[in-house]
Amino acid sequence: MVHWSPFVASSKKRYPWVQLAGHAGNFQAGDDGRVLKQYCECERQCLQKLKEDVLQPHVPGYYGVVNKGEKDFNVMDDLLADFESPSIMDCKMGSRTYLEEELSKARVRPRLRKDMFEKMVAVDPEAPTEQERAQQGVLKPRYMQWRETLSSTASLGFRIEGIKKADGTCNTNFKKTKLKPQVMKAFGDFVEEDTHTLKLYLHQLEELRLVLERSPFFCSHEVVGSSLLFVHDASGKARVWMIDFGKTVPLSEGQTLDHRTPWVEGNREDGFLWGLDNLIDIFSTMLSP
Ligand code: ATP
Ligand code: MG
Ligand code: MG
Repeated sequence: MVHWSPFVASSKKRYPWVQLAGHAGNFQAGDDGRVLKQYCECERQCLQKLKEDVLQPHVPGYYGVVNKGEKDFNVMDDLLADFESPSIMDCKMGSRTYLEEELSKARVRPRLRKDMFEKMVAVDPEAPTEQERAQQGVLKPRYMQWRETLSSTASLGFRIEGIKKADGTCNTNFKKTKLKPQVMKAFGDFVEEDTHTLKLYLHQLEELRLVLERSPFFCSHEVVGSSLLFVHDASGKARVWMIDFGKTVPLSEGQTLDHRTPWVEGNREDGFLWGLDNLIDIFSTMLSP
């Protein structure tokens, strides 16, 4: 799902703004290198708190809420603004992409879902258990958990959502990109096998890990569905930011996560840092195989 949004984000640049995930229409052009994202209270609270956190340089700057055409938007920096024909990659982080509360909700009034059973069979006829086959249906929580095993989310703690390259080619078909060699091939193609760009990205990921490990915001939130946005261009610049805080929720007072401990329901661990460790290992291996 790549959207070349109808707006041109900056008056200086004439290329259309690129959106690698989410619904088309969720974003609009703002003034002075800013973009507007459809309002979400959870995201507003995060972006506001992040202004005071050590993570601030690694997330888009935040400028409050505006109302436009009877809709509210969060205003933030356009991370593409300082690039010329950028190549962009969105990696969704974590070992699961739904919140614990979404799983609990899916358990209320459990019923067998024939539609989900059919989706499962379409992808992998071997996936349903004998019982599920007999019932021709699966429960939603089971379906949610199964879906995470298709991509690298469950096995590596991140998955590629989309890649758009400077030459205009784009790919958002990574739903079954699961194994390390497949991921490496996609990364290699993204950087055009350029080791300089790879090194810049690796350095940024290592720096980000250090900051995350000492961020009060990060250790006190369940961070689900958030992405790392990779951006580089021909000038030799390459940067990584953390984006999308629509499912980043505060823990109860005093509770913390290490973001590496495997998730068991109830511990709220999200596997974000485990995924970042794996990303860093993969970039390192690509540089010295
Ligand atoms: P989803 O939850 O499905 O991932 P969403 O509606 O929450 O989508 P985001 O993930 O925040 O939207 O953003 C979607 C895409 O828009 C990103 O993959 C990226 O390409 C682009 N994008 C988001 N925020 C910015 C930003 N501040 N600057 C530049 N590009 C951005
Ligand atoms: Mg997203
Ligand atoms: Mg989102």
